Amino acid sequence: MLVIDTENVRARYECYRPGCSQRREGPVFGSASVQAFVAEIKGQHLAAYHGEKR
Ligand SMILES: [Zn+2]
Repeated sequence: MLVIDTENVRARYECYRPGCSQRREGPVFGSASVQAFVAEIKGQHLAAYHGEKR
């Protein structure tokens, strides 16, 4: 689950999959960082912790 706070310009990713060893990624701050994070985090997380291809 991707959580984006546009007012405070930050984002984090929370994973609710059972057995996940990294339930929270981030948060990151700043519009450029948030944009990059939002674009990449789901694929990165799934690839890194759930063995899924991007
Ligand atoms: Zn996960």
